[in-house]
Amino acid sequence: MNTAADHASPLAPEWLAVPADLNALQEPMWASGVGKNDAGEITVEGLSVSELKERFGTPLFVMSESDFRSRARAFKDAFDAAFADICGGVDVYYAGKSFLCTAVASWVAEEGLRLDTCSGGELAVAARAGIEGSNLGLHGNNKSDAEINRALDMSLGRIVVDSIDELERVAKIASSRGEVAKVMLRLTPGVHAHTHEFIATAHEDQKFGLSMAEDSTEEAGLSAAEEAVAAATSYASIELLGLHCHIGSQIFEPDGFAVAAEKLLGFLAAMQAKYSIVMPELDLGGGYGIAYTPVDTPRPPAEIAEAMAAVVRSKCAELGITPPRISIEPGRAIVGSTTFTLYEVGTLKTVRVDAPESEDGQKNVTYPRRYVSVDGGMSDNARPVLYDADYSAILASRDSDATPQLSRVVGKHCESGDIVVRDVYLPADVAAGDLLAVPGTGAYCWALSSNYNYLARPGVVAVRDGAARLIVRGETEEDLLNRDMGVANV
Ligand SMILES: *Cc1c(COP(=O)(O)O)cnc(C)c1O
Repeated sequence: MNTAADHASPLAPEWLAVPADLNALQEPMWASGVGKNDAGEITVEGLSVSELKERFGTPLFVMSESDFRSRARAFKDAFDAAFADICGGVDVYYAGKSFLCTAVASWVAEEGLRLDTCSGGELAVAARAGIEGSNLGLHGNNKSDAEINRALDMSLGRIVVDSIDELERVAKIASSRGEVAKVMLRLTPGVHAHTHEFIATAHEDQKFGLSMAEDSTEEAGLSAAEEAVAAATSYASIELLGLHCHIGSQIFEPDGFAVAAEKLLGFLAAMQAKYSIVMPELDLGGGYGIAYTPVDTPRPPAEIAEAMAAVVRSKCAELGITPPRISIEPGRAIVGSTTFTLYEVGTLKTVRVDAPESEDGQKNVTYPRRYVSVDGGMSDNARPVLYDADYSAILASRDSDATPQLSRVVGKHCESGDIVVRDVYLPADVAAGDLLAVPGTGAYCWALSSNYNYLARPGVVAVRDGAARLIVRGETEEDLLNRDMGVANV
């Protein structure tokens, strides 16, 4: 009898194993409430993908509202518990840039979280959803005067200032309005975390934030970060709430967060002493990793929270300071796994590819790679093109007994790089009309979607208590032509 491993392709990346059961949903890539029915179809709280396709068409983002709410609560509860004795709990800001519409903004507020925005447009969504300004933050390295004014109009809880330039602009605008702007300073602590490791560097060569390196200004021994603290304390129109950092995304190990927290607390203590000020808040950013493929192993929020709390507790004791109120900004860790994209399979082809170089002496040997085209692509998921991001996929509309075949799921755009899932084992009998589901597409997929090739952007359906409703409708051909001013426009 053949085992799964007998179907392994030498073309597959090392991390990709042949699943023991091609029909099984592999944890932890899927939202809670996603399962399979007797017909072998994927279901969300009992709703089958064929029903969803029938009602809403494909491609379609299928989001579990129940799962979103429970992940949001899980972060809030875990961090509140871990930090209760340190600073009475944690303010969790959902990073709206990962996925935002008015329905999601309202869920965030109902679950007791706050919302991070980074543009006037995102503030407009928050306002439409009725989110209180005091529960909003505004990021961005190049906020316009209009955006700063809008933030002040909405009495925002915090504006996260990114540079000395911007600090001056915020101070000037607030002053001209006779108001005081609540400001955090975004620092770059020289800690960059990526997935399984982090690197520490003294110097920062990136557009975000104020450098903490001591020679980062022309004045000897003065960092850009300190210059900003000194300036902020000198403006009557600025209330300096504290410091902020965000060290990266898709991070699994808490070590990078811990090192960043220690550096920021040390700096906060030094500045408080030197300038006789109190900075009551510290924001440690987002970036908590999720499972895009079966080899990704995200930690439960409680584990990350406890590791971070231990560091904050001991560092504040060592420095002899009152711990600041901590905030965090998870985006993908809340929304990423709540959603899968449902596609319909169209054309298929198989190419033969030379054996990888590692196969010594295997000259003139070729192996098959199957291309499975779906009805979306880089316009609904730009992450593989932008970041070489890996995803996974499963046949969603039926079970199959066919053998596993190394496949590449591609879109329908006029780009050879238009890849949805670079490498995945799918049943060999996948055919036109089948539905495929790609899990983990809640974050930075719809948010980054485009109309490339005049494809209509897909809708987003939310499922809760076994019922589905559109929270963002899909675009129509009329939407696509709406802004075209026409041939005879004079
Ligand atoms: C993108 C971003 C986040 C969220 O990152 P995730 O990886 O989605 O958790 C949080 N804070 C800031 C400042 C960001 O730019």
